[in-house]
Amino acid sequence: MRDPRHDILFEPINIGPVTSKNRFYQVPHCSGMGWRRPNTLAAMRGVKAEGGWGVVNTEYCSIHPTSDNDAFPYCALWDNEDIISHRKMTDEVHKHGALAGVELWIGGSLIVNLGTRLPPLGLRNHPQQDTSVYHPGQTRCMDKNDIKNIRKWHRDAAKRALEAGFDIVYVYATHGYLLSEFLNPETNIRSDEYGGPLENRVRFIKELIEDTREIVDGKAAVATRFSVGLNDSESYDAFALLADLPDLWDLTVPDYSVEMGNSRFIKEAALKDSVLKARQLTSKPVVSVGRLTSPDTMVQLLRENVQDLIGAARPSIADPFLPNKISTGNLEDIRECIGCNVCYAHDSLGVPIRCTQNPTMGEEWRNGWHPEKILTTKKRKRVLVIGSGPAGLEASRVLGEMGHKVALAEKSRELGGRIITEAKLPGLSEWIRVRDWRITQINKCQNIEVFPESFMTSESVLELGYENVVIATGARWAKDSIGRHSNCDFREADIGMIISGDEVLEKPVKSKSKFVVYDDDHYYFGSVLALELKRQGHQVTLVCPAGRICSWGEFTDEQTRSNTEVIQAGIKVINNYKIEAVTNGIAELSCVFSGETKEIFCDFVIPITRKIPVTDLYDDLCSKKQEFRDNGIEKIMKIGDAEAPSIIAAAVHSGYRSAIEIDNPASKALNFAKREHPLIK
Ligand code: ADP
Ligand code: SF4
Repeated sequence: MRDPRHDILFEPINIGPVTSKNRFYQVPHCSGMGWRRPNTLAAMRGVKAEGGWGVVNTEYCSIHPTSDNDAFPYCALWDNEDIISHRKMTDEVHKHGALAGVELWIGGSLIVNLGTRLPPLGLRNHPQQDTSVYHPGQTRCMDKNDIKNIRKWHRDAAKRALEAGFDIVYVYATHGYLLSEFLNPETNIRSDEYGGPLENRVRFIKELIEDTREIVDGKAAVATRFSVGLNDSESYDAFALLADLPDLWDLTVPDYSVEMGNSRFIKEAALKDSVLKARQLTSKPVVSVGRLTSPDTMVQLLRENVQDLIGAARPSIADPFLPNKISTGNLEDIRECIGCNVCYAHDSLGVPIRCTQNPTMGEEWRNGWHPEKILTTKKRKRVLVIGSGPAGLEASRVLGEMGHKVALAEKSRELGGRIITEAKLPGLSEWIRVRDWRITQINKCQNIEVFPESFMTSESVLELGYENVVIATGARWAKDSIGRHSNCDFREADIGMIISGDEVLEKPVKSKSKFVVYDDDHYYFGSVLALELKRQGHQVTLVCPAGRICSWGEFTDEQTRSNTEVIQAGIKVINNYKIEAVTNGIAELSCVFSGETKEIFCDFVIPITRKIPVTDLYDDLCSKKQEFRDNGIEKIMKIGDAEAPSIIAAAVHSGYRSAIEIDNPASKALNFAKREHPLIK
């Protein structure tokens, strides 16, 4: 039953001419699906509406071929075929009584039009600005005629939005795209009525809001996405000039690494103070985000009049049913986002988003997976899952919910595998949610039995004779230099000087020592391990063959803050060097470009290069095929890091997939080949 304190979240609200049934608002967010994957997209957005979101928006939606963000997937409303695609999405959203919104988007100097090959339009002659792309192309400096054209294209796109069935149409004036260039005095160097004083710099946005309102003509609401920041007083002056023009303000802050903050650095409700100040300047409803997963925080934001609607991108990805769970009072079932930004990373990689917490995200259409519904098995099997990391926990949960009889065996006293260790590292405490949510679900399921402190051997597995055995025994950091920059081990290695990334956390070195962390992994682990060792009082040097530490963190939006934290902690960083040898208290380094060598004195080297799957049990069982058949075992599967080490999201996905495949072994071949084929005319 719903806690009456949360009732306020379910009060309807008028947004101009339309009404949202509640305060849950899925703000526009990238999906990695875009116009090329309309079925995948419609199914994903539809599940959000089914889960109770009052408003479900698209991602950024290009109004015209001069705004093309290939190879990043984006939506478009260029022509009739786009209308048909979007219709699919709006139908799915309307089916569940939610409103559908579209974020009309104009590129600017952040893009380079790699698909259409038309020069991008900007306010200056300027190199494209996306630092994850660094394309040599530049924008074309816009003239008055371009402004006129863009107004027409925006109006035309708004017309198409209505035809596609949208209830909310956006003017998108932030995130560094063209309209924010107009606002910014550094980028807006125009000397006409669109440049100079603030009144002039807001003119284009004002015109677009007015144009859109005229086109939608009371059939849809007009929203504006806009940034305000306490350190940017002019942003409030600009906001005040537009304050009552749109029907809804979708407010964020000028720093994307706060808005989309990785949980290593940014916690829940980080936008509150910035938004509150703007809220006081408008009579129109305001929505804002802040990785909000706690209903109490949400209520507080509404009561304190910070905002009128609870905006969410990531919390709606991790749990599309978050509103319904609050509505029914099933708060312990909320699958809280951990703020890892793995979703966003994959959009930037040009593939559908995925989620560490929600393995069904992006698989709604292709595999027919659903975050809350799992088909009950027709034939109940006895399944033994070995290992309780993210893969084993997820496999056990799903198998249990399918109705199988599950035994989960874990050698340690505590469940969670790599999550237990990693969540204790600096900044990663929220990662424990991956484990805790699954344990809560497992504890509720009558047909799952958990056996901690149960080290399994091939003999004990054979003895138990379960029909299916799922091996989720994980992986361990290697103690060699084989990785992205080397196919072979250290030329020489003093074995006493090499400690693995697991060992150093399991048995911390007590005496203050000189550590070298050799990061050829390029994600968070090398950096957080270095920070942890520093916290323990050691001297730490991070050696990395790439030009920057935490290179993959570019995609999860943590690279900059991570490097800042590492440097400020007093960790010495050596980039563009490999480690060749570790002997006699010295690590010998060589430059990846010139081969030039240097030496550093150290007590220990920790290679963060690759992980080795723990497969002794699997291999042992496989070598005893006849015996396991004699003992009634039909199938043995290896999943998660034990199959192929990767990010936690991959282990959770593997756990979910393995459970489904126990009932339907053909699914891999059939479903993963299901793709969005273009219509051949
Ligand atoms: P993944 O990411 O694939 O889920 P983890 O490394 O997080 O993998 O978890 C693997 C888990 O398997 C660890 O908790 C580990 O203690 C457990 N484990 C490994 N070998 C055995 C075994 N032989 N018997 C029981 N548990 C095991
Ligand atoms: Fe949250 Fe990570 Fe899932 Fe994104 S991938 S929604 S950040 S848990």
